Amino acid sequence: MSLINSKRLEDRITKLANIGKVGETGVSRLAHSIEDKRAMDLVASWMVEAGMKTEIDCYGNVIGVYEGTSPSLPRLVLGSHIDSQPRGGRFDGTIGVIGAIEVVQILNESNLTFERSIEVVAFSDEEGARFNKGLFGVRGLTGNLTVEDLLRKDSDGISRKQALENIGITTNEAFPVRYTSDNVFAFLEMHIEQGPLLESKELPVGIVQGISGPLWLTVEFRGHSGHAGSVPMNLRKDALVGAARVIYLFDELLKQDETIPTVGTVGYIENFPNSRNSISDRVTFTVDLRDILPERRDLFEQKLYEIIAETVEEYQLDYSISVDTNSEPKYCADWIKDILKDELQQMDQVPYELMSGPFHDALMMAEISPFGMIFVRCKDGLSHHPNEYASIDDITTGTNLLYKAVLKIL
Ligand SMILES: [Zn+2]
Repeated sequence: MSLINSKRLEDRITKLANIGKVGETGVSRLAHSIEDKRAMDLVASWMVEAGMKTEIDCYGNVIGVYEGTSPSLPRLVLGSHIDSQPRGGRFDGTIGVIGAIEVVQILNESNLTFERSIEVVAFSDEEGARFNKGLFGVRGLTGNLTVEDLLRKDSDGISRKQALENIGITTNEAFPVRYTSDNVFAFLEMHIEQGPLLESKELPVGIVQGISGPLWLTVEFRGHSGHAGSVPMNLRKDALVGAARVIYLFDELLKQDETIPTVGTVGYIENFPNSRNSISDRVTFTVDLRDILPERRDLFEQKLYEIIAETVEEYQLDYSISVDTNSEPKYCADWIKDILKDELQQMDQVPYELMSGPFHDALMMAEISPFGMIFVRCKDGLSHHPNEYASIDDITTGTNLLYKAVLKIL
């Protein structure tokens, strides 16, 4: 029998989804927005209800501490994120935070205390949608931020530092580190799969083997502006046409071999002056490239650079490329996977293992700690979309597995 209170889980998922609600089922809760802050405060109140001491740190992370009897022992950390894509869903990130709070609440209601402390974190700006760089909060906690991260601007020209201050969070350029390899025992994250595999296997949950490493680039092309009606075609240096060629050829390149899981996306573009009557002289676009094999990803990165080099020569453009994120794949700890496998089998479930294409807060926690992840089935593999859906039964199964794993690990 499961102790997990499905009704409470469902209720909290609905309440959180009402903050920044878009249409019937969507959510728009960009990092450090007013909606994000309201969600942070709500989550903090649930942490208190679950018996945790709670704080919001200088990065905007919401941290709940369920203190053990020997708080100096390395901690067990659980969590995920509550920020969303501009048009996201209700389950991405949130179930990992709400599920972790549920686990602690049950321990507390059962009057169970342990030697180790448990910490639950709602990590700040996992998505990276607003400032084009993700995993902000977890980078801060693990000592992977620089001043540049605070100076990044959103599309309205608001810096991250300003955005955080606007919601009452004072940034700290000393970048205090909370988590190190000495004080974290293990990290666990539950998340929706954001892919179709569990659904195709008719399984409610799966055990993650590891996370593909994302490479995030920002490419800028600079050409020459001019009147759309007068500059002859063969004299143009059109930055937008150059970008279009790269975007198309990059997509074609990655479609050549259907048997490999490598994926690449250009999802953001800025065009200047962005006028129908002018030739574009500056275009900035992002590149997202992921693979579970770093060597293969490197190969595609090189091919992309070749396409860019050919293009800037053909269109006589200047260019620059900045690397925003370059993470190696990270693999879950075998001992944690073994615990998850055993517990799932005892729940009469198939312990199916799968890789994660999307990255998660766990990717950065992996720098300092062994980690494990539980995936929950989502409908049609759809995520980053208002129609994203995971059933409360599946989320309950995932939370139950998280609970059992926590008991084993403590
Ligand atoms: Zn997520």
